[in-house]
Amino acid sequence: MPHGFVSLKTDSQEINRMNICKTISEFRQYRHSAAGKVIFVPTMGALHEGHGSLVRMARRLAGPDGIVAASIFVNPTQFGPHEDFHKYPRPFEQDLANLTAWGADVVFSPSPEEMYGPGNAISIDPGELGTVLDGAIRPGHFRGVCTVVAKLLGIVEPAAMILGQKDFQQQLILKHMVRDLNIPVEIITAPTLREPDGLAMSSRNRYLSPDQRSRAASIYQALSWATDQYKSGMRDAAALVAGMSEHLRQAGLEVQYALPCHAETLEVYPKAVGAPCVFLIAAKLGTTRLIDNVVNS
Ligand code: AMP
Repeated sequence: MPHGFVSLKTDSQEINRMNICKTISEFRQYRHSAAGKVIFVPTMGALHEGHGSLVRMARRLAGPDGIVAASIFVNPTQFGPHEDFHKYPRPFEQDLANLTAWGADVVFSPSPEEMYGPGNAISIDPGELGTVLDGAIRPGHFRGVCTVVAKLLGIVEPAAMILGQKDFQQQLILKHMVRDLNIPVEIITAPTLREPDGLAMSSRNRYLSPDQRSRAASIYQALSWATDQYKSGMRDAAALVAGMSEHLRQAGLEVQYALPCHAETLEVYPKAVGAPCVFLIAAKLGTTRLIDNVVNS
């Protein structure tokens, strides 16, 4: 039996079945035996409702005859040596139950050894966009992201891939990658799902203590403040940077960046903020690093 299955039961009734493929050959066997277009949602697991919104969107796009494929892979090559690769949460059984409930048909969850076999040496340069913002703070991060996503696309062969706007720089770089490398996939960017206080849902939110969790809401407050200012005509980049940073510092966050950037090139608006504009924030609460953004077109 090449594939594993997970079943969710209610009142002893099976409500769904999902294929679990742990190797590339298992996935390819499943992929080529199934008809219909594939819509793909790559993840690192520790799934939350933000991921759920992507999988549900994939289900709608795939329709009843298409295939919704998700991946769960904590990709070692996108973590720096002092980052949280080893402590990254891996609640696999819970993830499978969620994916099943959200309507996924198949999950690809390989080991690092399966993805990076002996002699694996080629990686993808993310270009200029990979050198700024998170690319500057996390050297090698976007090289790891591009490489693993190119590999996943070669395995999954989807018609479309859904990414979250929450990781704004990531989705932009990956759009450039599939364009520049002529990879035949459509990339759809899905809106950021938020907690009731505005905090963007993130697998890393579970690292926060209750006190840090309440202070983390300042990230979205800073972004909302900047958006309100922008909408009422404020274009002074320095004032917007200072205002966002002040919101974050008052809540005790360490600001890595709080910037108005061009939403297509990621260039920081130096003086007057133009359009399209994305306000981007990266900030730390203790050792936990959080990112978020709001786009104003
Ligand atoms: P991750 O598991 O963190 O690598 O995220 C997998 C995908 O889910 C990425 O495309 C993320 O941008 C997306 N994602 C993460 N958090 C959210 C959120 N709060 N709302 C929507 N999408 C999200």
